[in-house]
Amino acid sequence: MFVDLGLGLYALLACLGLFIRPGLIDSTWSLVALHCWIAGYLFLVFRVSYDFVFSDSPLLPIPFRFIALGVIFVNFVMQLTGGARSNFWSAYYLFAVVFAALSHLPRAALMVLAILSVELFSLLITRQFDAAQWQTYAGFGLSLAGFSLATSFIMDYVQREANQVKDAHDRLVAKAEAVNPLTDPAKLEMLMQESRQAVNLSTAQDLEASLAGLLEMTSRLVPAHTYAVFVKERGENQEVLVLRACRTGSKDTIVPLGTVLDPAAGKTRIDLCAERRLAQYIPDLADTPLQTLGYYRPDAGRVAVRSVMLIPLLSKDQESAVAVLAADRLAPDEFDSQAQEMLKHFAAFFRQFIEKTRMSLDLETKATHFGALHDISTDLSSSLNFREIMDKVTPRLKQVVPFDLCACFLRTGTDAMPQVEVISLDGYVRSAIGRSFPLEKSAVLAFMHKHWLDRGTTTFYTADYGDRSKDIVLFPLKELQIPVRSLLGRLFIANNEFIGAFFLASLRPDAFSSYHRDYLLDTLLNQVSLVGYNSQLHQRIEDLARTDGLTGLLNHRTFMEMLNAKYRELERTPRPFSILLMDIDKFKLVNDKYGHPIGDIAIKAVGRILQDTIRGTDFVARYGGEEFAVGMVETDRNGAKLMAERIRSLMEKTVVTRVSDGELKCTLSIGVVSFPEDTDDRAGLVTMADEALYHAKRNGRNRVSLYRDALKEPAQPVQP
Ligand code: GH3
Ligand code: MG
Ligand code: MG
Repeated sequence: MFVDLGLGLYALLACLGLFIRPGLIDSTWSLVALHCWIAGYLFLVFRVSYDFVFSDSPLLPIPFRFIALGVIFVNFVMQLTGGARSNFWSAYYLFAVVFAALSHLPRAALMVLAILSVELFSLLITRQFDAAQWQTYAGFGLSLAGFSLATSFIMDYVQREANQVKDAHDRLVAKAEAVNPLTDPAKLEMLMQESRQAVNLSTAQDLEASLAGLLEMTSRLVPAHTYAVFVKERGENQEVLVLRACRTGSKDTIVPLGTVLDPAAGKTRIDLCAERRLAQYIPDLADTPLQTLGYYRPDAGRVAVRSVMLIPLLSKDQESAVAVLAADRLAPDEFDSQAQEMLKHFAAFFRQFIEKTRMSLDLETKATHFGALHDISTDLSSSLNFREIMDKVTPRLKQVVPFDLCACFLRTGTDAMPQVEVISLDGYVRSAIGRSFPLEKSAVLAFMHKHWLDRGTTTFYTADYGDRSKDIVLFPLKELQIPVRSLLGRLFIANNEFIGAFFLASLRPDAFSSYHRDYLLDTLLNQVSLVGYNSQLHQRIEDLARTDGLTGLLNHRTFMEMLNAKYRELERTPRPFSILLMDIDKFKLVNDKYGHPIGDIAIKAVGRILQDTIRGTDFVARYGGEEFAVGMVETDRNGAKLMAERIRSLMEKTVVTRVSDGELKCTLSIGVVSFPEDTDDRAGLVTMADEALYHAKRNGRNRVSLYRDALKEPAQPVQP
């Protein structure tokens, strides 16, 4: 703006210069003015010339440029014809214009030489030589050379800068026009490299924006009415095509980004293209409804799309389409073979891009899964109770593996009759937890167990049962009878022992990919197996510590612990509580006559009778060698006496085993004490029961005595 105003002023000055009277030059003042005029005039010349060199530059309006040039030209002619005072100005102007226009250093230097020669020649001809004038000419010549050189440098620099800006500005368009992808794929690759950087591939999350950038590029080379990119993504049940990018001339007729093609609603041409993995060119869509394309809305009937090009973007192994690129135009047969080939070339870049994005998303998912697995590992070591652990692990597992149902079993029972117990459930009715069933009754478990024994395989996967699973007894419990489509099973094997099994089921077919099976579950379930094994081991050790090996009843220590716990409870809430203490009669004789092993059988028989008789809330222990104790909750003296009597009579009738001289039978003497009827001293209960027992022994054995009975008789030694 200011530059242009300045130039206008100089143009005016230049016009005035034409009329400067010759006489004026003699005064000092006019000499200064003249030089100013010359400087300004030169500036104008350079500036105008510059604008002519870069005709795109909007620095000067075009009419003004012509006026300025006209001024220069008229002045130049006047100088030549002697209208002005000195004849050397004319050569100088000529030089200035040509030099500025060319602005090349070598030519500028030549021009300086030329003008100096002209001046020299003029001097020689006119013979007006004097030293002072020569000095003036030399000075003028030098400053002219310096000025020219400087200007030349500046001009060169400005020109280079201007060229760069201009190039950068129009680079993509210029290249797109210059490149023929058919003959020069390397150049196209370069072009795409730039456009890829432009859309910033590293932000893989921003898939839609990046694809839009690529579409923008594509559309510059191959114009189309609408471009659409469908990307294959994992949906609920199967892979689906999702609209991820679109560039169109009629926005409101296109379905929104993110729309999923539903194959159930009829296959679109996009689906078909992905399925067939072949590019398809439809020169004229004619009357086919637009909706078959998949990216037009149902009410988009008014868009007159005619020619359509569909290109599948194949995965690296060419096995499947990762996406479909669609382009359409409004006139029939608008994509010539060159355009078609060009689109195919572009498709390759789209594919690369989508695959990269997929990889990055994949990595992200894996990172999440890794996090979940880490949490699960922490859970696994959080407790020794397998049930507790599995209840924590299964919800976490759901973040990683898409299952509907989950069941975890631990092995119980004997080697001959293996059973499994339901440990934890997810999705099933949880009331089945804790129940057991024979392994043989479950089709899947029996199958897996057999395969493990035969071949050592521990995993089982059925991708799709169809509707068969309702006829197969997967697990023989009512609560677990849910028909499933896919089932993934895994045996827990530790220390070469079958210790349990884990199942994930889905109502969808093929819900578990090999990634889920091999990568996620395999590592995880190995750990779970070990944890299950350890927890079982822990349970076994605990059981050993609590129970008696011969009878399986509680041992003396545990009985006393439970009794003490019971006493504390009675202290808070006094309720009737009785203790039975019993001893096998004349047991020494059994041992002496038949040997200890037979004696052991008798002890086991008593244990069984006690276990079969007492209620679940009561607790029974092998109190000593052939002595047993029962703690009976909520039981008063009468109840306890009845129970003792029942035990005694059962024992009496029971044939313990066959021996050399017939059948062995044993009898029991039982002492009964009741709280609070006999005493409110809880701590003395066992001693009192013992006293009652001895009362029974003294009074003939094979009988029940109450503590009350023992009190009536003074203590006497027992008859052997
Ligand atoms: P009583 O009617 O007075 O009780 O006579 P008894 O012979 O049963 O006398 P006592 O109760 O004192 O006998 C204890 C005997 O029980 C001693 C021991 O030989 C036997 N015994 C203790 N523990 C075991 C065991 O684990 N196995 C076998 N076979 N015998 C045991
Ligand atoms: Mg005894
Ligand atoms: Mg005895």
